[in-house]
Amino acid sequence: MVLLIITAVLLFGWRTGLVGGLGETPEGDETAVSSSQTVSTDVNPNTLSGASDPVPVFDFATGDLPVINDDSLDPNPNPHTYQGEKPSHSFQTYVVERGDTPNSIAERFGIKTETLLGGNPQLSQEASLLQTGVELVILPIDGVLHDVQPGDTLEGIAEQYDVPVEDIIAYEDNHLEFPYRLYPETQIMVPGAVREVFVWTPPDLSSVGGTSREGSGIKPLIVGTGTFQYPVGSRNFSQYFWYGHPAIDIALGEGTAVVAADTGTVTYAGWNVYGYGNLIVVNHGNGFETFYAHLSGINVSPGQIVYKGNVIGLSGNTGNSSGPHIHFEIRVNGVQDNPCWYLGCG
Ligand SMILES: [Zn+2]
Repeated sequence: MVLLIITAVLLFGWRTGLVGGLGETPEGDETAVSSSQTVSTDVNPNTLSGASDPVPVFDFATGDLPVINDDSLDPNPNPHTYQGEKPSHSFQTYVVERGDTPNSIAERFGIKTETLLGGNPQLSQEASLLQTGVELVILPIDGVLHDVQPGDTLEGIAEQYDVPVEDIIAYEDNHLEFPYRLYPETQIMVPGAVREVFVWTPPDLSSVGGTSREGSGIKPLIVGTGTFQYPVGSRNFSQYFWYGHPAIDIALGEGTAVVAADTGTVTYAGWNVYGYGNLIVVNHGNGFETFYAHLSGINVSPGQIVYKGNVIGLSGNTGNSSGPHIHFEIRVNGVQDNPCWYLGCG
C-alpha cells in the first residue's frame, strides 16, 4: 500500500514536471524571476539593500510565495549547538582502609568532610558506615554531585542547595552552555553545596509510654553546673563533629564505664531504633542535654537524677556501630553543638 502511494506520487511528480518542462520556455523562467525581484525592490528598496533580513513578500503578480533563505524557521538547524554536550566527570576514587575516618580521608585529599557526603550520598552520619573496602568518590572541589532528575532546572537546583546559578554554569565539566539543557540520569557538580543529611532527633518524650525504660514526659528535676567533663577517660577520637556527624566518637574497649558529663535528670534510657543502639539522654535543666550512644549497659532509669561524674552505663557496640565506641552529643535547646567546644578536644 505504501509502495503504491509512493509510486503514485512519483508518477504524478514526473508527469507534472514533464508537462511543465514541455509547456515552458527558458525565456518564461527568466521573466518570472525578474518580475519577482522587481516587486520586492519596489516594496522596500532601502531596507532590502541593507544588511537586514529580507522581508517575506507575497508576489501578487505571479502568486509565488517568497523563499526565506535564513534558518530562522528551521526547528533544529544545528543539532550540535542546541543539544550541547552532556556533563562528563571523571573523579578520583579512594578505597576505605582500616582505621580511616571521614575526617582523615577528607584531610588526605584536602576537601571538607562534608564534601565526602557530597560525592557519596550512601554515607550517613556514622563512621561505622565507612567500611573497609568501600570505594568512595573524591570530588575535586568542595560541593555536591547532584543526580539530575526529570524536570530539574538549573534555577531549582541552585535554590535547593542555596548556591548561585552562575557557579554551577561556570563549572567546566558540567558542559553547560546556553540554553543550559539538563539531562536526567547525568550528574552535575554543584560547587559549594552541602548535601542535606538525615539527623536523628529524639522522639517527643512526652508521647512515649511509661511502661518501657524510655522516658515519659520527664521534666528536669535538677540544674547542672553548666560545665562538662569527658564521659569516658579515653581521648582516642574516631570521629569529630562535622556537618554530617553532630557528635564526637571516642573509641574504647567494650564495657568501659561511661559517666554523666554534668549533673542532670535522665530523660531517656533504653534501646533506640534509629541507630543509637542503647542510648542514655540526660537533661541538665539549663537548656543542655547530653546523649550517650551505642552502650552495652545502662545503669540508670528515666527520671533518675545523676551527678556529674556518676557512672551511668557501659560503652559498647550496639546500634549502628561497627566497633566499640561512644557517640557523645551535646544539644543546646535541642540543637547539636560541637562537644569539643565544651570539652576541648586538643
Ligand atoms: Zn558517632
